[in-house]
Amino acid sequence: MKAIRVHEFGGPEVLRLEEVPEPIPGKGEVLIQVKAIGVNPIETYIRSGTYAVKPELPYIPGWECAGVVEAVGEGVTSLRAGDRVYTSGTLTGVYAEKTLAKEETVHPLPDRISFEQGACVDIAYSTAYHALFQRARGVPGETVLINGATGGVGIAAVQLARSVGMRVIGTGGTEKGRSLVRAQGANFVMDHHSLDWVDQVMRFTEGRGVDIVLEMLANVNLAKDLTILNRNGRVAVVGNRGTIEINPRDAMNRRAEIIGVLLLLATGEEKKSIRAALYAGLANGTLNPVVGQSYPLELAAEAHRVILQSGHYGKIVLIPQ
Ligand code: NAP
Repeated sequence: MKAIRVHEFGGPEVLRLEEVPEPIPGKGEVLIQVKAIGVNPIETYIRSGTYAVKPELPYIPGWECAGVVEAVGEGVTSLRAGDRVYTSGTLTGVYAEKTLAKEETVHPLPDRISFEQGACVDIAYSTAYHALFQRARGVPGETVLINGATGGVGIAAVQLARSVGMRVIGTGGTEKGRSLVRAQGANFVMDHHSLDWVDQVMRFTEGRGVDIVLEMLANVNLAKDLTILNRNGRVAVVGNRGTIEINPRDAMNRRAEIIGVLLLLATGEEKKSIRAALYAGLANGTLNPVVGQSYPLELAAEAHRVILQSGHYGKIVLIPQ
């Protein structure tokens, strides 16, 4: 089968298309014919060798894909050949025509969701759900600022927050991105590059501020986020690419909390809830993954270049064959 492999850490050019042996499912394992692959920023950090966790070389990148079960190993009871599925992690990597996964990381994909959309479910929606409801404890009626609402996690967060009756302020760096955020039901949309976004939030909330900030670029925005919180407000740090100076008094004065979010550390119970909530939302139509761009698998390097640029519009997917 064809797969993208990394033999040395470095720039996008280290992603090479190669012929590799097809995996065979062992006990409790599932072989999936990959139809679409979700690309995430973390895969670029790992590829560059700067991430805390480094895989053994050579490796096939990626966690999430959607496809069809081709074969199951001994003891697999919840899935069978022909099932439409999406993954939350695999044993062999997903930038490939086929992938091998443990039964517990393979989930049913509702018929109304395409394979391309299915490849965008796991990391974006699980992170958004975990950040919004499990870490920041969002409840209906609260106001949330999604700072960076145009990307994978941001769009998912807008849909999740609106589906339970939260008031949403969403930001985007381009007009195209902002119209997408508006179309997902955000109540107010603004540009995170504009100099007066803090004033815009305070005007929209009539001086009260927001209950929650879901922050996609904390090293740029955290200091300002603390100044727009309501009393008992929470900033959930989802994305961060550097350091920043903050004034702790801004947190003290509001009894505010800065909450770290790392999906990889979600507990088994939390993951079970996330899975059930996402299946329900995907099946009943409240959750609709947005595919912004799709590339053939051999252009994985291009996808890695594009995902780190501004101007997002939903998720990027790779298509094998
Ligand atoms: P993505 O699709 O690449 O989206 C990035 C988002 O950041 C876009 O909405 C982009 O908006 C926005 N952005 C750019 N400049 C910004 C600024 N100055 N202020 C606010 N937002 C800004 O990435 P993603 O998959 O949604 O992930 C978002 C971040 O969360 C990434 O850093 C990722 O590594 C991280 N993440 C963390 C976890 C976790 O467990 N903590 C899990 C998944 C992802 P424009 O392009 O419109 O400017």
